[in-house]
Amino acid sequence: MSFHIIRARRAHPQHPVLLRLTSGFRRFQYRWYHPDEPLFESLREGQNPLALVIACCDSRVDPVLLTDCRPGDLFVVRNVANLVPPYAPDGGRHGVSAALEYAVKHLRVQDVIIMGHACCGGIHALVSGGGDENRDEFIGPWVDVARHALEKVDEAMPGACDADRARACELWNVRLSLDNLMTFPWVKSAVEEGRLSLHGWYFDLQSGELLEYDAERQAFRPLVGHPHVGRNPVSSRG
Ligand SMILES: [Zn+2]
Repeated sequence: MSFHIIRARRAHPQHPVLLRLTSGFRRFQYRWYHPDEPLFESLREGQNPLALVIACCDSRVDPVLLTDCRPGDLFVVRNVANLVPPYAPDGGRHGVSAALEYAVKHLRVQDVIIMGHACCGGIHALVSGGGDENRDEFIGPWVDVARHALEKVDEAMPGACDADRARACELWNVRLSLDNLMTFPWVKSAVEEGRLSLHGWYFDLQSGELLEYDAERQAFRPLVGHPHVGRNPVSSRG
């Protein structure tokens, strides 16, 4: 048996991206490993996060940055289009399900937040046909998890343009992820026993608002509105 060792290309120490990131890490060290800052004294013992957040990979929608949280505050799962595949105990490699299981069963978080967002490339791929067929291997099958959300949108908005379909699908997709969370029996039981709450959020990076799904009204409403702009609830009825 022969082993092929592929050496990672070593970047030059003056590489601008590395310089930007390592200088950022130094600021992180200075802030959190300061002798007067005891946070990591306790974090070395373990984590006790406030909530699990399931968000998109998109670089513009980091939940920790958006909520001004500290290290240890949020247990975060990020994937393309903030999807939650439904419960499937088939022995497969289910990363989102594993993180959900750890957060709910071991960390015993009391809140799970789905954080969708505007201008989502993953949802755009779904709306436009599942990614670039000529180049992509994984995007199409992955975003197809949200196919039901797109079907709901197309039922409700026949003939709508792709931009409107995408916006509506981003919102519906948050609802779908909430529904899929409830297919996990230990999530369902925790919710029904009042030990766990599920929340659907949507960061509208066009307006700067954070919306929350209101299950009773089946609509999104501003959870944190823009300080200078009033908005009506955003319907996602299907
Ligand atoms: Zn996204």
